[in-house]
Amino acid sequence: MNDKMQKIVSLAKRRGFVFPSSEIYGGFAAVYDLGPYGVELASLIKKEWWKAVVQVRENIVGLDSSIFMHPEIWKASGHVGGFADPLVECKDCHNRFRADHLLDEIGVKADEKMSEAEIGRIFEENKERLKCPNCGKSNFTGIKKFNLLVKSNLGNFTEDWNKKPVYLRGETCQGIYVNYKNVLDSTRVRIPFGIAQIGKAFRNEITARQFLFRTREFEQMELQYFTHPKEEIKEYNKLREFRWKFYLDLGIKEENLRWLKHENLAFYAKEAYDIEYKYPFGFSELEGVHARGDYDLSQHAKFSGKDLSYRDPITEEIYVPHIVESSAGVGRILLALLSEVYTEEKIKDGTRTVLRFDKKVAPIKIAVFPLLKNKPDLVDKAKKIFDDLKTRYMCEFDDNGNIGKRYRRQDEIGTLYCVTVDFDSLEKGDVTVRDRDTMKQERVKIDNLEEYFEGRFAV
Ligand code: ATP
Repeated sequence: MNDKMQKIVSLAKRRGFVFPSSEIYGGFAAVYDLGPYGVELASLIKKEWWKAVVQVRENIVGLDSSIFMHPEIWKASGHVGGFADPLVECKDCHNRFRADHLLDEIGVKADEKMSEAEIGRIFEENKERLKCPNCGKSNFTGIKKFNLLVKSNLGNFTEDWNKKPVYLRGETCQGIYVNYKNVLDSTRVRIPFGIAQIGKAFRNEITARQFLFRTREFEQMELQYFTHPKEEIKEYNKLREFRWKFYLDLGIKEENLRWLKHENLAFYAKEAYDIEYKYPFGFSELEGVHARGDYDLSQHAKFSGKDLSYRDPITEEIYVPHIVESSAGVGRILLALLSEVYTEEKIKDGTRTVLRFDKKVAPIKIAVFPLLKNKPDLVDKAKKIFDDLKTRYMCEFDDNGNIGKRYRRQDEIGTLYCVTVDFDSLEKGDVTVRDRDTMKQERVKIDNLEEYFEGRFAV
């Protein structure tokens, strides 16, 4: 892990954004828990996504389908047969890796969609140059494709449940496809329209490194947009523009984003691009934007035996809608935002670490301090201000340590403003408001605080 990444991981734990799972039991690989500021940040990311994707669009509606679904769904989608990554094991240290990732590190192109034989051949050709990232030896097993679906015994009380497992969903969009007819029949949407969903997904990832980037349990935000076949590419291009802008609006600089075109397209796909973010470990996928043709609905029609075609109410044309999708991971966006806003600055008494979150996603907007915690007059006044502000903004009350330390702590969690109540406040009825980014302090009348912040938080 490089230096910046290590600093982010350590700050995330120290300041309550992200904790390793089950730590007091020695940890649990590839699963993370969100701490008090992490859960706030994740919920703001989801809120912004929902607002942009559902709230301000007339023809996109929400859905919350279950994690567990009929096992046939995963056969129809191709996940039971084909959702597999190429696994190799180091014969010396017994660590397992994705062969395509090892090849990628030495600049050889391969991906998980290649057949076992194809990627096996490329791996053999380059074997001499490949080293185990754990022990440095060059002694690998052959490649085996490993299915990523996580299995459960839900509702199966026999010992050989494994023969007929119920899967934990590997992606949220299958819940959308199987509810497409329900949404059409119960709402006023007509093609083109979209269904959006946020929810957990599970994958048995072989190597889960890079912190939140690749975990075995994660949250997806997916939009499936149903179009007329002739409109698919036009809608796809619109979707790409829309998704790019979303990241700029979250405060990500354009120079840290790029498009990656999929060269090796699935047979049904018309076009596929990923939006990549420049993480501390290099550009990697933030979200996928894909034109999927009629594959998903046709597969579910075939496997379920139900007609999933659409009849246009005006032209009476009947067709299977084509789908363009956007699929993003909350954890990957959270990590991208932490990387984007993490800043170390030289100041006159040392270095300050500050998370320069955009106001939309800063977990805490305002912190309120009494100058001293053992002066009841100061504490009471500060509490009163806190109680007023907290109904409108996510606020924090802090009376611990000296003011300098409190500023450092709030900077490290990205709080936008700190309000301090001091002795002058008791006499003159004003407080010091300190701005996170400029560190400038100004006196503001307590009576004017509401208006002061309204102006600053207006969207
Ligand atoms: P990768 O190639 O990195 O494995 P993918 O192409 O398999 O990703 P998709 O199946 O397209 O990913 O999933 C859509 C989105 O879900 C990804 O862009 C990512 O944001 C998120 N995602 C997928 N797998 C994971 C994971 N293991 N951990 C965290 N987020 C994930």
